[in-house]
Amino acid sequence: MRRKLVAGNWKMNGSIAANALLLAEIKAGLGNAACDAAVCVPAPYFAQCQALLSGSAIALGAQDMSAHDAGAYTGEVSASMLLEFSCRYVIVGHSERRAYFGETNELVAQKAVRAIKAGLIPIVCVGETLAQREAGRTDVIVGEQIDAVLSLIAENDLSKIVVAYEPVWAIGTGETATPEMAQEVHAMLRKRLSAKNAQAAMQVKILYGGSMKPENAKELLAMPDIDGGLIGGAALKAMDFLSIIRAA
Ligand code: 13P
Repeated sequence: MRRKLVAGNWKMNGSIAANALLLAEIKAGLGNAACDAAVCVPAPYFAQCQALLSGSAIALGAQDMSAHDAGAYTGEVSASMLLEFSCRYVIVGHSERRAYFGETNELVAQKAVRAIKAGLIPIVCVGETLAQREAGRTDVIVGEQIDAVLSLIAENDLSKIVVAYEPVWAIGTGETATPEMAQEVHAMLRKRLSAKNAQAAMQVKILYGGSMKPENAKELLAMPDIDGGLIGGAALKAMDFLSIIRAA
């Protein structure tokens, strides 16, 4: 069985004071979680969050990283820098990075492979826009996004990734994919992974993201191919984040 993962994506939110409060509340309420849990925080807070999370069951993650090792790439943060702060996960290809920063399928694939090489677990985000869904192109778009990663990754490394299906129209909108809609895409994704390495495909966690909250987490997480959640807004409220962890 795949152990579920609930990861918070704080996006560009937080402050030293707010992070301290949020993580203290999460740690106090966590108890013996039956799933893996992580928070993906803005880079300037790695040191703070590393210290606050040390000894806890909550892993640290980043929201992006460079496709390059080191050098003249102003503003970029490398995989080895993430490792110095005990990051375990790194989100790559979030739809906000694709939409606002022009990240292509190829760049996202390069980042995923670089992350694995460094020993990080990439959380590879895929998802269609509303227009693409309405045009009946969900499978084509999401398929292209995952295939770009599959074409670059070594067969033996496939089990080292996490995939997150995040329909763009469900992010931050309060609108959620129904469990059936999400399951359909998750199953399609697992089939694609399976074509590369059938055994690894059964191990890969496929998370759902997009307005996941306490009210809808349980039914989404009950679907056979939904192995956890990538949580935006609800990850900024300790009570909500904890209740999603409990649902998993
Ligand atoms: P929301 O949970 O705020 O919709 O954000 C989802 C997301 O983008 C997580 O990466």
